[in-house]
Amino acid sequence: MTARSIVWLRNDLRITDNPALSAAAGRGGQVLALYIHEQSHGVRPIGGATRWWLHHSLVALGTELGARGITLAVHEGNSQSVIEGLADQSGADAVFWNRRYAPGERTVDEEIKASLRERGLLVESFGANVLVEPWTIATGQGRPYSVYAPFWKALKAREVERPRGRPEARRAIEPTEVDADYTAPRWAAKLGSHWQIGEAAAHQALARFLDEKLEDYPPGRDIPASDATSRLSPHLRFGEISARQIWHAAMAMAHAEPERAGFIDKFLSELAWRDFNYHQLYHRHDISSTSMQGKYEAMQWRQAADDLAAWQRGQTGLPIVDAGMREMWETGFMQNRVRMLTASLLTKNLLIDWRDGEQWFWDCLVDADVANNAGNWQWIAGSGLDASPYFRIFNPVTQGEKFDPDGSYVRRWVPELARMPDKWIHRPAEAPPDVLSAAGVMIGRDYPAPVVDLRASRARALDAAAAL
Ligand SMILES: Cc1cc2nc3c(=O)[nH]c(=O)nc-3n(C[C@H](O)[C@H](O)[C@H](O)COP(=O)(O)OP(=O)(O)OC[C@H]3O[C@@H](n4cnc5c(N)ncnc54)[C@H](O)[C@@H]3O)c2cc1C
Repeated sequence: MTARSIVWLRNDLRITDNPALSAAAGRGGQVLALYIHEQSHGVRPIGGATRWWLHHSLVALGTELGARGITLAVHEGNSQSVIEGLADQSGADAVFWNRRYAPGERTVDEEIKASLRERGLLVESFGANVLVEPWTIATGQGRPYSVYAPFWKALKAREVERPRGRPEARRAIEPTEVDADYTAPRWAAKLGSHWQIGEAAAHQALARFLDEKLEDYPPGRDIPASDATSRLSPHLRFGEISARQIWHAAMAMAHAEPERAGFIDKFLSELAWRDFNYHQLYHRHDISSTSMQGKYEAMQWRQAADDLAAWQRGQTGLPIVDAGMREMWETGFMQNRVRMLTASLLTKNLLIDWRDGEQWFWDCLVDADVANNAGNWQWIAGSGLDASPYFRIFNPVTQGEKFDPDGSYVRRWVPELARMPDKWIHRPAEAPPDVLSAAGVMIGRDYPAPVVDLRASRARALDAAAAL
């Protein structure tokens, strides 16, 4: 009898280094690749910007799979019903997938695995989306890591599995239903001019980073106006490239060109934060809705809808924050330092619940990721395990002056301030009237006064944290 295998794709929209796809192709017979826009209990619905990315990523993957004789079927609904229905219709005798790690997702996967096995199907899952499986790395006491530095040390000492190649071409199972009607929000269309999407584009971004940007990375990754980082995060979000492909490409370069090893080590130490966040996601109940440090559940967050709206719209009167929020709205991306500054302003100076900020980022970022978004928000808010200390409250004015000294980042995203001199670009409300009028800026008309007094709100945030 001909083998008929279904590969259920989730965060692994690639052909290379895809063990589930290789397992299906390796059985011989026919293969059906399946993506489900999932409406399953416990699986967080994806945000608007990621939905837009996903659509284009699936189109790219469908073309690549098609060229290898594999059809990509796209469905919508409860994953168990979709898979069981497809298995029945196609006569599939095996289902493969690569693992995911959020507690709700794991429950769904376990239930589907049990139910398919009961029906007599072969079901196998594989590790493919992180450098090391979260349960295979532990402290000397056998516990999950809660501090990054020893986690990174342990990870570096590990052998990261080598990526696999491409599976052989196969004959497709004819899908019975494809391309469920699926639309991204209309506002997301503008993101298109900023990104190339798909597996080939992901590998190009990696090659470009290693060839052209690596030496600028350590200082440049803090400079919002520079293009010094890899911009791999949305590709990683959907698994268009795997973390271990990145790891081994970088390691190969460090081996071949030892003089670049220091830069590569810095880059990989950032990549490893992604694994650290997945490690926490795996071992905790729900990091996107519950503070990892329980005492933060008692924090007296402010209910301040107007302040939240000003932050979301990039109208806080603090230029680097507004630039970041507007960059994200236009491009689906925000540079890391600016993510830290915007998140610090919200959770500390404005004392607004980190979950409100996390949800906004979840909807607006093309790389919005179930582990990295929540993990970083909790790091900034102070509620994470290895969090930024509660007394670290970024000052967006001095940070702007340090990391965007000539204001070029602000000028790009907050054009109403474009003519402000460097000296005042990060503190326009303090500029003398003649400077403002020469720059064509009237505070309150062209650009808002700061939404909050930085000094007083800093003291309020310290008091609130001390009271926990
Ligand atoms: C409040 C806040 C929210 C964030 N939300 C997300 C998110 O939803 N998705 C996301 O991928 N990253 C998130 N980050 C982390 C970081 O900002 C992005 O990963 C990074 O800016 C992506 O750009 P890059 O690919 O050019 O990074 P590079 O500097 O080139 O780094 C390479 C890769 O390393 C990983 N990485 C780097 N820094 C971090 C970090 N701090 N935490 C986890 N992984 C990291 C990413 O996978 C990244 O693609 C967030 C950071 C903050 C402060």
